[in-house]
Amino acid sequence: MRFMADEKGTLYLCATPIGNLGDISKRCLEILETVDLIAAEDTRRTLQLLNHFGITKALTSYHEHNKKAKGEYIINLLLEGKNVAQVSDAGTPAISDPGEDLVRLAIDNGIEVTSVPGPVAGITALILSGLPPARYAFEGFLSTNKRNRYEHLSSVKNDTHTLIFYEAPHKLLSTLNDMKEVFGGERRIALARELTKLHEEIIRTTIDGAIEHYAEKSPRGEYVLVIEGAKEQQEGECFWQDMSVKDHVDKYIAEGMTQKDAIKAAATDRNVPKREIYSEYHEI
Ligand code: SAM
Repeated sequence: MRFMADEKGTLYLCATPIGNLGDISKRCLEILETVDLIAAEDTRRTLQLLNHFGITKALTSYHEHNKKAKGEYIINLLLEGKNVAQVSDAGTPAISDPGEDLVRLAIDNGIEVTSVPGPVAGITALILSGLPPARYAFEGFLSTNKRNRYEHLSSVKNDTHTLIFYEAPHKLLSTLNDMKEVFGGERRIALARELTKLHEEIIRTTIDGAIEHYAEKSPRGEYVLVIEGAKEQQEGECFWQDMSVKDHVDKYIAEGMTQKDAIKAAATDRNVPKREIYSEYHEI
C-alpha cells in the first residue's frame, strides 16, 4: 500500500432499500452525505438513489469485475484518512453482492469497518414465509452449472434449518424442478417477490404446488425462495438404517443420481467419509 496516515478513515457498509425507498434509514442518509466517497456496485443506480434524496457525492464503481484494482484504490483512500461508504444495488452489501473482499482488505489494513444496517431480501422473506425462522441457512444463488446446482442442493438435503435461496425469474421453474428432484415435491416453500414494493407477493405452498403454479403463470421479478428444512430424524427413523451400504447407494442411483453423487449422499446420511462408502460399495 502506498501511504499511511496517522488517522485512517472508516469504511461504512450501508444497506439501501430493496424496493421501497422509504426504507432507507436516517443514519444511512447522514453517512452518505458526510463520507468523502461512495463505492457503488452500479454508479448509475446509486446516482438515482442519491438524486431522490438530494445528495451530491463523489461516486466510484466497485463490482465483481474491478474489485481487485478498485479495492486497492479504495483502501489507499481509507489509509489516507478518507471515509468511504459502500453500497450495493439493493439491500445489504456483501450479501450475494460485492463487499466481502473489501471488508477483508480493510480489516487486513487495520481500517475500521462499521455497518449501517437495513434491508436484506432473504431475512425479509424469511419472516414473512410462515416457516420456522429461528434456525435458518442462507444459501444465496445456485450456480448456473447443472452439476454444481445439484451438488449444492444435495449438500443441504438433510439440513434441518429453514433454507433461503435467491433466484432470477427465468431460472425459477428449472430450479423448482431441481429442488423437487433433491428435496421431494412435498417440502413446504414460500416464494417471495417484489418485497416492500406495491405488488409484493408471497406464495406459500409446496414445491409441487409451486411447479404447478408457475407452469401456468410466467414468473416475474426477482425471487427469494424459503424452503422448509428436512424433518429432524428421530433415532430409528432413518430409512437406510436396516439397509446395506450397497442397497443404500443403489436406492439413490435408482432415484436418478450418478454413482458418485449416490456415494456422496450415502456418506452424508451416515456421517462417514465418502471413501468408506466407496470401498464398501465396491467391496475393496
Ligand atoms: N444484497 C441484497 C440483499 O441484501 O438481499 C441481495 C442482492 S442479490 C444480487 C439480488 C437478489 O436478492 C435477487 O435476485 C432476489 O433474489 C433478491 N431480492 C432483492 N430484492 C428483492 C425484492 N424486493 N423482492 C424479492 N427478492 C429480492
